[in-house]
Amino acid sequence: VPFHARKPAWVRPRVRHGSEVLELKRLVGQLSLVTVCEEAGCPNLSECWKDGTATFMINGERCTRACTFCLVDTSHPLPLDPGEPDRVAAAVAALDLEFAVVTAVARDDLADGGAEAFARTIRAIKLARPTTRVEVLIPDFKGSAAALDTVLEAGPDVLNHNLETVLRLQRAVRPSAHYARSLAVLSRAQRAGFVTKSGLMVGLGESFDELREAMGDLAAAGVSILTVGQYLRPTQWHAPVARYWHPEEFDMIRDYATELGFRFVEASPLARSSYHAKRGSDAAQVL
Ligand code: SF4
Ligand code: SF4
Repeated sequence: VPFHARKPAWVRPRVRHGSEVLELKRLVGQLSLVTVCEEAGCPNLSECWKDGTATFMINGERCTRACTFCLVDTSHPLPLDPGEPDRVAAAVAALDLEFAVVTAVARDDLADGGAEAFARTIRAIKLARPTTRVEVLIPDFKGSAAALDTVLEAGPDVLNHNLETVLRLQRAVRPSAHYARSLAVLSRAQRAGFVTKSGLMVGLGESFDELREAMGDLAAAGVSILTVGQYLRPTQWHAPVARYWHPEEFDMIRDYATELGFRFVEASPLARSSYHAKRGSDAAQVL
């Protein structure tokens, strides 16, 4: 699909910033925090922020990896900011967020991959607002079990790690990651008793059969919550969109995933990893 081609109506964002959104933007700027919602130009920003859910990005704005779908800047990262966990917690408390999503760039330059900063942020949020549930969307920490355990020891309510795409397209889409390694991260967290979650993008050239296989592998790894959304090319220097999946195909994906036993499935053109995160968490915790 050419970059400038008009997108189908079902992937065009509905942007309407109300007063809650403007208030959150002001606070985020004031506390020098970064949200994925803004950085990634997420099409759901108005809806999520109005609903009191936002995704904070910690550990800097520069990533040591260069996934071909991602808008985050790839360059040499800066040292960690030790005050960041408390500032994220302050924003969560000030905005009275019931549900906070915390993610980070991949910090392959750090010995622990940034895991301790995740743990400190989870603890700071729980201290500032004990009833807030925290979902962490983590990188693979190069498969380090110790780094993963550091995050788990802080007690996240949902452990999210995205598989992103089918087996065949892994190298082209996320060259520094591995399909099996990501499944192992999810499986280890699930075996430790945590609610796990993962996400896939469609529109990168995968077939329905390949997608079924990826969903099957995630189900076999014990993942409870699944998100599937349309890949949207952020700039013409990013991977092209192979095709736009139709809303009816998303219904088929949801049906198939539900049959596989996921407790919550968010499959829609504009679904993103943290879209309806609160609902997913509610569904997964109620057994
Ligand atoms: Fe932010 Fe996630 Fe909602 Fe997008 S889907 S606006 S990144 S919380
Ligand atoms: Fe983007 Fe994450 Fe890949 Fe870094 S590791 S380029 S932040 S998707």
